[in-house]
Amino acid sequence: MNYTADSVWTECLSFIKDNIKPQAYKTWFEPIKPVKLSGEALTIQVPSKFFYEWLEEHYIKLLRVALVRQLGNDAKLIYDVKMENSYSSNRPQIVKIPSSNRDPLKPQNVTVSLESDKRELRNPFIIPGLQKVKIESQLNPNYNFANFVEGDSNRLARSAGMAVSNKPGGTSFNPLLIYGGVGLGKTHLVHAIGVQIKDKYPDKTVLYISSEKFSQQYIDSVRSNTRNDFIHFYQMIDVLIIDDVQFFSGKAGTQDVFFHIFNHLHQNGKQVILSSDKAPVDMQDIEQRLLSRFKWGLSAELQAPDYETRVSILQNKLFRDGVEMPEDIVAYIAKNIKSNVRELEGVIISMIAQASFNKKEFSIELAKQIVDKFVKNTKKEVSVDFIQKEVSKYFDMDVATLQSKTRKRHVVQARQLAMYFAKRLTKASLASIGSQIGHRDHATVLHACKTVDNLTETDKQFKKYVDDLMKKLSF
Ligand code: ADP
Ligand code: MG
Repeated sequence: MNYTADSVWTECLSFIKDNIKPQAYKTWFEPIKPVKLSGEALTIQVPSKFFYEWLEEHYIKLLRVALVRQLGNDAKLIYDVKMENSYSSNRPQIVKIPSSNRDPLKPQNVTVSLESDKRELRNPFIIPGLQKVKIESQLNPNYNFANFVEGDSNRLARSAGMAVSNKPGGTSFNPLLIYGGVGLGKTHLVHAIGVQIKDKYPDKTVLYISSEKFSQQYIDSVRSNTRNDFIHFYQMIDVLIIDDVQFFSGKAGTQDVFFHIFNHLHQNGKQVILSSDKAPVDMQDIEQRLLSRFKWGLSAELQAPDYETRVSILQNKLFRDGVEMPEDIVAYIAKNIKSNVRELEGVIISMIAQASFNKKEFSIELAKQIVDKFVKNTKKEVSVDFIQKEVSKYFDMDVATLQSKTRKRHVVQARQLAMYFAKRLTKASLASIGSQIGHRDHATVLHACKTVDNLTETDKQFKKYVDDLMKKLSF
């Protein structure tokens, strides 16, 4: 007879089924999947660590009898435990755990088999491999200190980052909050800190995660009733890096859970590193108690790089790409792209691509064309007026209607959309947006922005309005 994991397990199940209550069978045995049979060792996959513990505690005798009936006295059981709390990666981590395989008749002689080696465990409750679950750091090794060009604009943040990586959790920079505008190197710098820590302290558990992903995991954990696992997972981390915490704004549940995780880590001397697009004082819809935690450590700003730094960043990039470019062209680019390092890099990448596709030399003309494109795309700031006109046109109404005091739903929505886009696409303050769109106050604009955010999430049709308008407005 040819035994397979499936056939052995099917036989075990029918025996088990006869010996326990249907409900218990359904709960504890139906979810198990047989994975592998090698010799007398059957590997089964269980959905969680808790599940495994429960089986070991309540059903080990039954399992043992069932297995011995199929595989003889040397039967072994190995669990593949899906670590559902391995929030660091999308695929579940599998931890192999041999059953303690306690034989009630010979309790002093406990042998368990590990897949690779056989060894005696004195205490069957010590679960090998479980204490130190390896967590993938999710760090990008290309974002390191070596290629993070130093300049006046980033000196404080960079040296604070260095200090933290030399002594994670051991400086007063805890949390370290790096803030600054888009494309100024926040993500790069927080990775660099993590990479350096991993380098210096390979045993420390470092985890990089975006705030959106953190928030999503949290929501999922609530949905699947594993909120505690979620919290425990994060409490195990030595260095927690959360990118773009401004996205916590308005998310009360995420803020609450982060508050608890933060307190735990901080109390235990663990390092927390955060990035945000604004300083704590300017963050909206973040709970006060959380903001006050953010301020406990150091908030360091990444500013737009000055001319010299921009030149160095360009040269550094060119050097790494093994490309030579005349100095005057580098200078031209550095002079014209001022506010965003990502764009500086973008120009270089386009230059290289254009030059090689068209077999052209680098020239000032080419640089000009490309820079123009970048500058046009980003500098073309739309006005509040333009937004009102476009939104009105989209909804087939005139601007006066959009601005009027009417409470008709479709007009209110159009008005709120105009306010929302004005906030997103212009630099106008809430108050100024309000006064330009029908003399409303700043609270009305703020409310409009929130309403649009909410509706976008819950209402498909509304989301389409937002997407359509975004295309029209940002051409
Ligand atoms: P942010 O997260 O602030 O939006 P990123 O960290 O994604 O910005 O940076 C945008 C790009 O600019 C990345 O490719 C990054 O490597 C690069 N960059 C930013 N600052 C520097 C710097 N000081 N030196 C070298 N490259 C930088
Ligand atoms: Mg970023």
